[in-house]
Amino acid sequence: MARHNYPESVDFHAVGVSSDSDLNPFRIVQRQVDEAAEVLKLDPAIHELLRWPLREFHASLPVRMDDGTTRVYQGFRVQYNDARGPSKGGIRFHPDETIDDVRALAAWMTWKCALVDIPLGGGKGGIICDPRTMSQGELERLSRAYIRQIGHNIGLDRDVPAPDVNTNAQIMAWMVDEFAFMHGYNEFGVITGKPLALGGSLGREDATGRGLMLTVREAAKKLNVDLKGARMIVQGFGNVGSWAAILLQELGCKLVGVADVSGAWSNPDGIDALALQAHVKEKGVIQGFASAGKPVDKEAVLELPCEILVPAALHNQIRKDNVARIKPRILAEGANGPTTPDADPVLYQNGVYVIPDFLCNAGGVTVSYFEMVQNAYNFYWDLPTVHDRLEQKMAAAFDSVHEMAQTYKVHNRLAAYLVAIHRVAEAMRLRGWA
Ligand code: GLU
Repeated sequence: MARHNYPESVDFHAVGVSSDSDLNPFRIVQRQVDEAAEVLKLDPAIHELLRWPLREFHASLPVRMDDGTTRVYQGFRVQYNDARGPSKGGIRFHPDETIDDVRALAAWMTWKCALVDIPLGGGKGGIICDPRTMSQGELERLSRAYIRQIGHNIGLDRDVPAPDVNTNAQIMAWMVDEFAFMHGYNEFGVITGKPLALGGSLGREDATGRGLMLTVREAAKKLNVDLKGARMIVQGFGNVGSWAAILLQELGCKLVGVADVSGAWSNPDGIDALALQAHVKEKGVIQGFASAGKPVDKEAVLELPCEILVPAALHNQIRKDNVARIKPRILAEGANGPTTPDADPVLYQNGVYVIPDFLCNAGGVTVSYFEMVQNAYNFYWDLPTVHDRLEQKMAAAFDSVHEMAQTYKVHNRLAAYLVAIHRVAEAMRLRGWA
């Protein structure tokens, strides 16, 4: 009998080393860095450093389960690059989590923070687990076990975690509490996305969706797209997708298609995003929502005619094999890595205006940064202040990408890479790293 109970698929030393390099997100990141390095004529050592995480932690996490047995989970924290400031990025709980996913996501956080010009580097964490099958008590013990393992390697000036896929404010609260026990004092700024009662920021919950809405608004201005009556399709109706849909609906857009793990639906008359969010909060999935319209194929929903398409689920949704059929006017990438590199040139040729992920979904980390600032001063802002400052950051980042794309005549993702990598490389050069 095995001494331990790692999930069968996990080889502790080779977790996430996927054989399909075309769809491995970390290989995708390296390809994207290579492309940007060539245009920017980066110093070879800086280029090589940007292709790899600076450091990463792998931890075994023993958790007492409700039935009295102990289960050992695997967790990771990757500090990809902290040249511009402490690493920053969420922690994901997912059964298919791999170290390469976490590396890729940590790299994207590095570019994201540079693009919105906040003084932070990039990091990401992940635990291989299936939160849907775990009780609240088990989730709490897992969250605390994670902090016990990596708690000495994070901190206000080192690395600041936050929520991501399948993690939320309650999980952040347990983590910040465990950190306080370990160190003997409260340090609220060590984790963001906390509940308001524990040093959270107003406006953090809908920040990623709001940032997405702001970038769509800017894109619509540039392209002369009228948002009143514009059809939108949203894939994934969690925090990002649901808030993006609600806020775009406030600008006049009509939600004509939705999808999540439970299925896909289309309704030309429009689906009320606010009512759907309330349904998903209660039931966990879209299925069962009366006015979602008629069921459609999950893959085909991305191909339905619309002005705005918002992939807000997981990565690799728009690929070589389906990209020719995906033709919105604006593709607003709420998820991290929804489009593979092979699909980018096709979208560009087809005139799809792509708002790349690390621009489009940067609103969350921007308000996380505001949360850190408020924690540092122990002085809290009102909601209009958060919204104003978020708007300024998102609009400036959008303009820098749009201008770069025009100047170099490249697609928006490469333009975003050029802006972000130039900024990170400059910090590395000034520090004397190469
Ligand atoms: N998980 C979010 C992201 O991917 C937010 C990260 C943060 O607030 O640090 O951008």
